Amino acid sequence: MKITFLGNGDSLGTPRVYCDCDVCKEARTTGLNVRLRPSIWLESEGEEPLLVDCGPDWRTQMEKLGVRSVRHGLLTHAHFDHIGGLVEWADGCRWREETADLRAPSEVLAEVVQRFPWLESRFRMIAVDGGWSYGGWSVQPWKVNHGKNGFAYAYRFQRQDGSGRAWAYCPDSFDLSEAEKAPLRGLELLVLGTSFYEEPYPRETRSLYDVREGLKLAEEVGAEQAIFTHLSHDIDLRKDYGLPAGIRFAREGLIVEL
Ligand SMILES: [Zn+2]
Ligand SMILES: [Zn+2]
Repeated sequence: MKITFLGNGDSLGTPRVYCDCDVCKEARTTGLNVRLRPSIWLESEGEEPLLVDCGPDWRTQMEKLGVRSVRHGLLTHAHFDHIGGLVEWADGCRWREETADLRAPSEVLAEVVQRFPWLESRFRMIAVDGGWSYGGWSVQPWKVNHGKNGFAYAYRFQRQDGSGRAWAYCPDSFDLSEAEKAPLRGLELLVLGTSFYEEPYPRETRSLYDVREGLKLAEEVGAEQAIFTHLSHDIDLRKDYGLPAGIRFAREGLIVEL
């Protein structure tokens, strides 16, 4: 499977419109820290590509990818930074006289339809509460704590070749319980959302892990590799954070093959 990072930013992206911090300034000039909203593009043999989350930067992301038609999507939860591009995608389907398959657990699809009822005319809404198969991988959603923001889902992709090898996409989570951590154990790759390096705000106001906590979690669950995404303007890629071997920050356009 080939994973392409289309966006590695948090809900506001970097630069943040209201902000003149050093990282946002750098993002506006040389641009190392430019971050679009979080989304990945999956390609696996014998399957059409799969878009995971469709935030408000979807249009820009598809232009950069050079893709005119998207037929398969998967959502982690119904927050704006993960679904804000659905309306444009649906409009694109209308102009091309196409429909697309949109997968998510049923409660996420229900929220999407409640907010944008007309999307049902362009998307086949397919509930995947029990998981499904994609290109030789079984895909299993599980519900994760998203702190003050409620809940999200994460996905574990496990090879169907009997090796048990797996990776997971968990962009929006915080303070996971032992049961919520279980699907993260023994991964060859953990993709985890970490907004800040060390988030200074009270725990009850937080919704994502920070980098220091993410490092601990990756070690605890024994991930061979980890990629941190959903990064805010707190992370400055000009700095060396001394991340341990096998752990890195996502960048737009980063490709990982498993
Ligand atoms: Zn998010
Ligand atoms: Zn800033």
